[in-house]
Amino acid sequence: MIIVLKRHASETDIATVSDLVCSLRYQPRIIRGVEQTVIACIGDELSNRSLTVLQDLPAVEAVFPVQKKFKLVSRDYHPSDSVVNVQGALIGGGNMQIIAGPCAIEGYDQFRSAVQDLTRCGIKIIRAMPFKPRTSPYDFQGLKLDGVKIMREIKKEFEVAMVSEVPGPAQIEILRDVTDMFQIGARNAQNYDLLEHLAHAGKPVLLKRGMASTIEEWLTAAEYLIVNGCSQVVLCERGLRSFDKTTRNLLDIGAVAVARQLSHLPVMVDPSHAAGSRSLVAALSRAGLAAGADGLIVEAHPDPVNAFSDAAQQLDSSSFGDFLKGLEPWMTLARAERAADR
Ligand code: PEP
Ligand code: MN
Repeated sequence: MIIVLKRHASETDIATVSDLVCSLRYQPRIIRGVEQTVIACIGDELSNRSLTVLQDLPAVEAVFPVQKKFKLVSRDYHPSDSVVNVQGALIGGGNMQIIAGPCAIEGYDQFRSAVQDLTRCGIKIIRAMPFKPRTSPYDFQGLKLDGVKIMREIKKEFEVAMVSEVPGPAQIEILRDVTDMFQIGARNAQNYDLLEHLAHAGKPVLLKRGMASTIEEWLTAAEYLIVNGCSQVVLCERGLRSFDKTTRNLLDIGAVAVARQLSHLPVMVDPSHAAGSRSLVAALSRAGLAAGADGLIVEAHPDPVNAFSDAAQQLDSSSFGDFLKGLEPWMTLARAERAADR
C-alpha cells in the first residue's frame, strides 16, 4: 500500500505513521518528495490487515492499495487463458460455446422439444433450470424437484451437457449428479456463503455478474470460488440495472473487454437477460462476440410467447439454426481474433 502524507507532515508525523505501519506488519519505505512525503508499505495486502485504517490520521492525505483483491483470478497470476471443460465442451482459450435453452423447465414436452431443436443445431450445453429464483414470490418459481426429474430423463435421452442455476446451498446436492455446470445467477452474485459451498461441489461454475456489481466485485466473487477450490469458473456479463428501461438491463460491453484483460477466466455474454426483447438478442450477441466474449448463453423456447417466464426475450428454439447462421461471420472473426491473441 502507498501512504501519501500531507504537505505539512513533520518528522514526528512521519515517525508516528511509520511505527503504525510496522505494528500492522508492513515494512515502511520513506520517499521524501519536493513537496510531500510518501510511505511505500511492503507486505502482503491480502493476508495482512488493510492500512486504510490509517486514512483518518491528521498527517495522512490518502492511502492507496496496490494489490488487487482478486489474485487467483487475475492475469498477473495466470497469464494464459484458462479453459473450462463442461463434459467435453470447452470454453475459453480460443474455444467458443453457445449455451442455449429455455428460461425454465416448464414440463417434459416443452423441455424435450427445446433440447431436441437445440441439439439438432449442434448446441453442446443446454440451459436446464428447474429452480427459478424470481424477484417476485408470485412469479413462476420453477418445477423444482419435478423439474430435476424431467432434466434427468432428457439428459439420458440426449446425452447433452446441462447448466443449472443453484439458488442456495440446499440445492447443490439435489443438482450435483444431474447438472454439468452450476450457474450463480445475478441475484446471488455476491452470496459468499453459497459461493464457498459451491466451490466444494467439484463442477464448473458460470458466474453471472450482479445487476449492480462493479467489475472488481464480480472478479472478487470469482476469487471466492477459486480460493475455495473451484478452478473451473466462467464469468458471465448479463447487463446492469440502469436508468433506461428501453432494454431490460444495460449490457456492459466494456466489462467484457476489461474482464478479459484483467482475468484469465473465460467470459460469456447473456444477451437475453440484457435485451429483455427477442428482437435485440442477435445484435447484443454480435456485440458480445466482438468485445471478446468466449461464447453466449441464450434463452430459447419451443413456444416463447406462452413461456411461463421471460416470454418476451426467448428465441424460438425451432428457428435457432437461423440465429446461429446469422452469427457465423462473427463467430469466425472471434475465433480468428482469439487465435491471434494467443
Ligand atoms: C437466468 O439465467 O435464468 C437468470 C435468471 O439470469 P440472471 O440471473 O442473469 O437474471
Ligand atoms: Mn430468464
